[in-house]
Amino acid sequence: MNVDNKISEYYDKLLKRNAGEPEFHQAVSEVLDSLKIVLGKDPHYADYGLVERLCEPERQLIFRVPWIDDNGQVQVNRGFRVQFNSALGPYKGGLRFHPSVNLGIIKFLGFEQIFKNSLTGLPIGGGKGGSDFDPKGKSELEIMRFCQSFMTELHRHIGEYRDVPAGDIGVGGREIGFLFGQYRRLANQHESGVLTGKGLTWGGSLVRTEATGYGTVYLTAEMMRTHGEALSGAKVIVSGSGNVAIYAAAKAQEHGATVVAMSDSSGYILTPEGVDVDLLKDIKENRRERINSYAQEAGVKFVEGGNIWEVEADVALPCATQNELDGESAQLLKNNGVRYVAEGANMPCTPDAVHVFREAGIAFAPGKAANAGGVATSALEMQQNASRDSWSFAYTDERLKQIMTRIFVNVSTTAAEYDREGDYVAGANIAGFKKVADAMLAQGVI
Ligand code: NDP
Repeated sequence: MNVDNKISEYYDKLLKRNAGEPEFHQAVSEVLDSLKIVLGKDPHYADYGLVERLCEPERQLIFRVPWIDDNGQVQVNRGFRVQFNSALGPYKGGLRFHPSVNLGIIKFLGFEQIFKNSLTGLPIGGGKGGSDFDPKGKSELEIMRFCQSFMTELHRHIGEYRDVPAGDIGVGGREIGFLFGQYRRLANQHESGVLTGKGLTWGGSLVRTEATGYGTVYLTAEMMRTHGEALSGAKVIVSGSGNVAIYAAAKAQEHGATVVAMSDSSGYILTPEGVDVDLLKDIKENRRERINSYAQEAGVKFVEGGNIWEVEADVALPCATQNELDGESAQLLKNNGVRYVAEGANMPCTPDAVHVFREAGIAFAPGKAANAGGVATSALEMQQNASRDSWSFAYTDERLKQIMTRIFVNVSTTAAEYDREGDYVAGANIAGFKKVADAMLAQGVI
């Protein structure tokens, strides 16, 4: 059977075994597409059921999370942890608290994480977790009680050498604090390496908060340099206004770009003169308000329910959520002159959008490469925890920058090696895959 047929047959089986998980199908389909190129050249990567094993999580945990709200009512949420692949190191990946969370979403994120973590060059496997808990509108005590209940089950499945969760949508420094406190209490030890994204006085790393957004911009700058352009003077759209978006906007402006629009799920703001990052941080991080407050306080326009991708720009950084940028929006970007897109979020661009970018010659960096700075810095946090050390901001930031540059060079040279010059999707999938695949083949059928 030829490679294309083999992969199609395998994908059909996967669809049947994982029914009702469209995001997981989407993530696998994209990787399998790139694997056709690898298997055509290096057929041994199909040996020992490697592809089938790669797409099947090593372990999937689903658990009840009961907690008591401020009115004394019992609430029940569902918790997940998908421990996808530990061939390269302990499972590593964030926890997402959002009402849209289900097993398929966590599996898509965990699957992507395998390749992303491989690309960082650091010894970390892939995993992801979370809950359908909605932190919006909850009091701090409700969030604390939820986190404590979530960790009461999760604690028996994680550990410095086993599985090291971090934050994601809805899980920031405050939530990591509550989760770590409960872990420490249950495990009866201060095992700082069990979670990353910790506070700076109890094992956290400088730059971790900024890392994903900064990393996306470092990689974008490198990509633009390769194409003979620079961020300085460029107009940039950054979707979202959470952790990734804020620091992507901050770093893009440090590079001399102007961030012309940002958003949340209620609409977008137009900021033709650039974003006041200090004001944005105060509104989002301290006061936990919506992007609309920024518009009111900064006196800029807020477009309620609008599509941020209709704004004119040179660079687009989708930093909010999966499938936020579809084919139609990609057409808008193309018509408005966007030449570079880098995914700060996980899988924000639909396959149709990626197709439009490819046809239009728009340079496109997929999330596996472009947002790997967060997990890379988490791995640097683990290194500091293991050596009981803490590094300076400048040193850690420099390490992050080097990692992001190395990722881009690896992705770009791998694409060229497989006759896909400029196809950073193929480059990221192939480079990420080969390292994990070599480790899995060396470790036998497990
Ligand atoms: P946050 O919870 O801090 O922020 C998410 C932001 O996205 C919020 O502004 C939210 O707005 C907005 N958003 C969510 N859904 C939509 C939507 N449908 N349309 C427009 N805006 C929306 O999460 P993070 O910044 O941590 O994560 C963002 C993305 O980056 C996710 O895909 C995550 O998986 C990915 N990522 C995060 C990493 C990290 O280190 N944090 C690492 C690597 C990837 P609202 O408040 O209205 O919901």
